[in-house]
Amino acid sequence: MSAENASQIFEPLFVRNFRCIGDQCPSNCCHSWTITLDKKKYKEARKSPDNVIKVLAKEHFKRLPSESLSDSSYGYIRLDNRGLCPMLDDKGWCEVHKRLGEKALSLTCQQYPRMPQYFGERLELSLTLSCPAVADAVLFDPDAMVMNQVETSDSLKSHFKRGGSPSSALPLWAGILRDFSFHVLLNQNLTLPERLFVLGLTYHQVDPHLENPLKVEAILHQNLRLTEDGSLRNAFASLPELKGHKWNIFSHQVGHITDGIRREKEAYSGLTPSERRFMRLQMPLVRQMAKLMGEDIEGMTELSDAWKSGQHAPESTQAFEQLLQDARPILAPFFAQNPQLLLNFLLYQIYHHQFLLYIKRKPIQFFQVLMVDLLLIEGYMAGIAVECGEINKDIAVALFSAYSKKRQHNAAFVDRLDKCLEESASDKLAAVFALLK
Ligand code: SF4
Repeated sequence: MSAENASQIFEPLFVRNFRCIGDQCPSNCCHSWTITLDKKKYKEARKSPDNVIKVLAKEHFKRLPSESLSDSSYGYIRLDNRGLCPMLDDKGWCEVHKRLGEKALSLTCQQYPRMPQYFGERLELSLTLSCPAVADAVLFDPDAMVMNQVETSDSLKSHFKRGGSPSSALPLWAGILRDFSFHVLLNQNLTLPERLFVLGLTYHQVDPHLENPLKVEAILHQNLRLTEDGSLRNAFASLPELKGHKWNIFSHQVGHITDGIRREKEAYSGLTPSERRFMRLQMPLVRQMAKLMGEDIEGMTELSDAWKSGQHAPESTQAFEQLLQDARPILAPFFAQNPQLLLNFLLYQIYHHQFLLYIKRKPIQFFQVLMVDLLLIEGYMAGIAVECGEINKDIAVALFSAYSKKRQHNAAFVDRLDKCLEESASDKLAAVFALLK
C-alpha cells in the first residue's frame, strides 16, 4: 500500500511543527547507529563530480553483505573510531548536504527522524523521540498530540520507508483498544497512575479474548462504566505496595537498556557520542545511590552486579527508595509547570508504538514495557534532580531523547522483561501494578 492509496493521512502537531535545529542540536543524528545507504545514492556518491565527496565515499561507504542487500539497503557508512559519521566537517556539518544539497543525502539521512506508519487504512505520520527537537515538541507543546487529517505533509515523501500495520496486518481489536486507551489517558477525573491502572487492567482482561472483538468491546464498555462509578479508582487504592520492588526491576532491566556500555567504559573512554550522552545522564543516579549507601561505587554495572550477587542488596534497595523520595519535592514543581509532559509521552507511546504489533507482542506486554520505561526515566531523573537540585526543560529533553535512543523494544527485551516480572512477585500483574505505587 502506498501513501497515494492510503485512504487517510493523519499528522499530529508535533510532526507538522517539526524543524531540525541543525547546529543547535545537542546531539546530531550523525553518529552511533548504522547509517544505511540506498543503491542509487551509494553509487552516485562514489562517482560524484565533487572530488571531496568521491574520496570520502570511496573510503567510508561500504557494501552490506550480499544476503542482506536490497535497493534501499545497499551499503552503510563506516563510522570513525569515535562513532561519528566521517562525512562531517570540522564544524559538524555534513559534507554531502553542504556541497550537494539535501537531495543528495541517502534516503536514510533524508528521512530521519520521520516515520510514516500504517494503522489499518490510515497512514499516520510520526517522528522518533530519539531526536531532541522531537522530544522537545512532544513533551513541551501542550497541543503536540492534536491530530489533523491532511492531504500532504513535509514529513511524507514518496521515497520514505513506511512501517506500522497496514489493514492486512492490523488485528480487529487494535483500533478499538487504541481509542479506548486515548479516551482513558485523557480522563482528567483520574490521576495519571489511576489512568495507567485502568489501561493495564484492561489489557490484562482482554488478553485471552483478542481473537473475539465483541468480547473485547464488552470488556472496554464495562471498564468505562467501572471507571465512571469509581470502582476502578477504589481498586487502584487498594493495590499493595511491594517494598524494594522498584529497585529489583530497575537493576534487572537497566543492564538491557544500556547493553553494550560496559564497566570499563564507564570512565567515558571509548564511548560513542550517544553512549557518552547517556552515561552523563545515568551517572548522577549512580553517584547519589553510592552516597546514600556510603559505598565507593563507580558505575551502574557495579551497582546492579552488587545487587544481583546479594552484596549490598538491602542498602541499594533502600537507597533507591530514598532517592525517589528525596527527588519528589524537586520534581513536583517541574511537573506542575509542565502538566502535559508525561501525558504526551504516554499518548505518543500508544500512537507511535502501536502496542508493539511490529514485533508481534500483545497489549499487556506493551504495557509492561511502558511501565519499565517510566520507572527507568523516573530513576534517572531522580538522580539528576537530587544532584543538581533542579530539573529543567533542557535536562528533560536530553534525558527522554537519549533514553529513547538507548532503549530496546525488540522481542528479546520484551520477553526478558516478562520473565523478570514473573520472578519478582508471585503475581505478574501485581508486579507491574506495584510500579505505579
Ligand atoms: S537529531 Fe534531530 S534536530 Fe538533531 S540534527 Fe538530527 S534531525 Fe536535526
